[in-house]
Amino acid sequence: MCCGNDNALVRSFITMRYRVLRLTVVAAIACGGSGASSTIAPPVAAPVLTSIVVSAGATSISVGSTLQLTASARDAQGRAMSATLAWASGTPSVANVSSLGLVSGVAVGSATITASAGAVAGTYVITVTGPASYKAGQSYFGRNNYIEYVAGNAPVILSAPHGGALAPSTIADRTAAACGGAATTVTDGNTAELARAMQQRFFARFGTYPHVVISHLSRRKLDPNRVQPEAACGNEEAAVALDEWHAFIEAAKSAVLKTTGKGWYMDMHGHGHTVQRLELGYLVTDAQLNLPDATLDASTAYEGAASMRTVSLFSPLTFSALLRGANSLGTLYANNGFPAIPSATDPRPNGADYFDGGDNTRRHTCGGSATAFGGVTGGNICGVQIETNFTGVRDNAANRDRFGDATAIVLEEYLRMHWGIRLGAP
Ligand SMILES: [Zn+2]
Repeated sequence: MCCGNDNALVRSFITMRYRVLRLTVVAAIACGGSGASSTIAPPVAAPVLTSIVVSAGATSISVGSTLQLTASARDAQGRAMSATLAWASGTPSVANVSSLGLVSGVAVGSATITASAGAVAGTYVITVTGPASYKAGQSYFGRNNYIEYVAGNAPVILSAPHGGALAPSTIADRTAAACGGAATTVTDGNTAELARAMQQRFFARFGTYPHVVISHLSRRKLDPNRVQPEAACGNEEAAVALDEWHAFIEAAKSAVLKTTGKGWYMDMHGHGHTVQRLELGYLVTDAQLNLPDATLDASTAYEGAASMRTVSLFSPLTFSALLRGANSLGTLYANNGFPAIPSATDPRPNGADYFDGGDNTRRHTCGGSATAFGGVTGGNICGVQIETNFTGVRDNAANRDRFGDATAIVLEEYLRMHWGIRLGAP
């Protein structure tokens, strides 16, 4: 058998792994015994296509623009090999793909692009953001209307991640086990309505619209104020909505930077804490807020981490004065009927419950952690997280309007005094 029909032997092993084949051939040569069998060349195993990896330089494009995708075919050992690929879009009404992998943005939303060869396929999710010219005051929606962007034309961006009510059965409820260990699912009631009222009252006063991004998905399904896996907990539909959430905020930031060069972001929430006040989260922890002003001003570390870092560097005020002095955002709110911490009269939590800012604030402001979260540390979009109390702020339409009007007044003063931004007529 050993020195029988070695060609048949080799053929019978042709589909086996190369290492096995090699041993077989060595054995055949050895039992030839003459040393004259050098004409038998080691057979080359045909690589078996096992995976396709699709990549690109970006995950989002705007309507009307294009992005080249690259697909890499790999064998079972992960080595690159050639393969004839077919490209397809799961949602051509959102994004088309050419036979060479060039994606073009058609409409706002997300599309899964597939590169395949036979039964092997690789995918890439593309988020398509709106055209460069959104119409201010008009709504644009992501897939299934989960995420809504009301375009603006003022240098102010508002977002409401936790006020949604949609609970589609196709997205499993978030659980700590599925979310990497933690899953908060409580709704911040009426915060989507609050963001809309703020936009309307701002428009009534200045004739321009702040940008507004709202998640209509229940927090049981998606938490846009968390990073993955806690945000979407392994659900692809929720992950697409998360991408759209950030893409819309990025689109708003781009528009603001293009028209004004700098702007202000506020992530709107609702707390259930005992003390009825606005909690302004600048990414300064409660322990840090408990420090004396002199300590906060003695090191640039606190200012460098804060979500209004660039404003503080621009303003002649000390960091602590901008944080809780007579003209701080908190004091301006308090002067307009909405008690806030930190402010001149309420500078320190001193053990009371207090939220210092979440992942949206980390990513979308100018603070020290922005770059690590996909944003720009030291950039020209700064901001704050506002955790609102319920009664008197977001409990009914009249109070939401009242808060919206106060916000317009407060931001006009704050951004003019500290950052040279004019919201009203010059
Ligand atoms: Zn919240």
